[in-house]
Amino acid sequence: MPNDSDNKISRNEILISTLHEIETVKKNLTIEVGTLLSPNGKIIKEWEGDDESVSIPIEDYKNKSLWENNIYTHNHIIGLHFSVDDIERFCELSLSELRISIPSNSFFSIIKKKGFYTKLANEVMRDKVGSFSKGMELAINRGLVFNDNDFADKLYRLRIEHAHNWFENNAAKYNYIYEKGEL
Ligand SMILES: [Zn+2]
Repeated sequence: MPNDSDNKISRNEILISTLHEIETVKKNLTIEVGTLLSPNGKIIKEWEGDDESVSIPIEDYKNKSLWENNIYTHNHIIGLHFSVDDIERFCELSLSELRISIPSNSFFSIIKKKGFYTKLANEVMRDKVGSFSKGMELAINRGLVFNDNDFADKLYRLRIEHAHNWFENNAAKYNYIYEKGEL
């Protein structure tokens, strides 16, 4: 019988408390800030952004060793879950964990487990779960009006909501841990 501990990753105490501190501060910000941490809780680098995204210079993106097996946490001030871009970045940069904190006091986390499915970003997110066409299908099912001013925004939110539901139900199958928690 599967043991619950199989699904838990033992985490460094300092990492847990540092993440808690950082994410508690971020929930009151009006801009997004991204923080990169090592698995033992040391802050490696921090980047500020605007109300929609974090601005990371291209030379930092290109520096693969900066990201590899580290933990990246950022805040979504509009309170949404992971975007398709977030998941793509998580996979491309070989992070071990990606986190988001939102103003309503919650966080979301996705962690790689041993044997994780490496094509999560393209085969799953870009082509199926978080794709534009999947979003359109959901929009039609929900009867959204296409020429509404805020159609693009509603479509974006539908895609994110769908990806969130998908992760809740399927992450384990692909050897990822998907978690939602309170700060
Ligand atoms: Zn994001």
